[in-house]
Amino acid sequence: MKEQNYLDHLVGVFGQPVAENPGVVIQDAAFQAMGLERWHFLTLDVDKDQLENAINGLKAFKMRGINCTIPHKIEVMKYLDEISESAKLIGAVNMIVNDNGRLFGENTDGKGFMMSLASNGVDVKGKRVMVFGAGGASRAICVELALAGAGHLTIVNRPEDRALGDSLLEILRKNTKVEADYCDWVGKFPIPADTDIVVNATSVGLYPNVDAIPNFDLDTITKDMFVQDVIPNPTETALIREMRRRGIPCASGAGMLINQAALNIEMWTGMKPDKDVMYRALEEALA
Ligand code: NDP
Repeated sequence: MKEQNYLDHLVGVFGQPVAENPGVVIQDAAFQAMGLERWHFLTLDVDKDQLENAINGLKAFKMRGINCTIPHKIEVMKYLDEISESAKLIGAVNMIVNDNGRLFGENTDGKGFMMSLASNGVDVKGKRVMVFGAGGASRAICVELALAGAGHLTIVNRPEDRALGDSLLEILRKNTKVEADYCDWVGKFPIPADTDIVVNATSVGLYPNVDAIPNFDLDTITKDMFVQDVIPNPTETALIREMRRRGIPCASGAGMLINQAALNIEMWTGMKPDKDVMYRALEEALA
């Protein structure tokens, strides 16, 4: 007789605003392709002051895990039993695994970024990296680059938010061996000729501002460099289109997002999802 087991396995995302988060599209596509029919990804609008209740709900429903996005990435840390070393350094958690009521927090943003670089054949050991932006994504990326042995990091951000760059620099210098410095972003920024990797970790180019390109001096980017964008929507930003047109090796933020989501699925289910299926689902959703 056929086994009768209709138990649902729940994961999802807590955020606000969260309605436009495409996580559900790529995660559900992956679950279907893996034959995990009773696994579901829920997009949940959680008010800032309801996070504790939401975490209790997660435990009550025995949800396997959750992603956290704005505004919960920092606040959620106080409800967790264990936090990975890199998430502690980053100071933010974007995914949680629930092991029978014991909550483990991880930050997979920077790990997805590193997987994207690796899948494009880029080894960061000893490399000189320019990271534009000093917000949450930049923090996760800089910590992972430093832990992976990048040689030199320069963080570039608008002068109004100098404190963000300074605090990130302090974390890197205190906790990792990377050489790091900070530069104010004023006017069209020339990329130093000895740069190996250029990272757009700002929100410039994100939908709906799809024609915006970060204010780099594009003529100073050479074919010896690799340009990695963090923007996943659109799947190919104006920056990446321009890099491709100039023959400069590059990768979009969509790859980073897919890698991050794939890592989440692996940590929740113990199985590796098909990233091509996930990428196609994202492209279809954002077309
Ligand atoms: P934050 O708001 O924390 O940081 C945004 C950063 O962008 C700040 O450094 C900000 O500078 C900078 N910035 C914004 N507008 C401009 C501009 N016009 N010129 C120069 N700098 C600018 O956001 P996050 O770090 O959390 O997210 C940044 C982007 O990363 C988002 O678009 C998000 O979609 C993407 N992301 C992608 C992921 C993926 O998996 N692909 C994962 C996580 C994030 P300032 O401090 O001066 O305001």
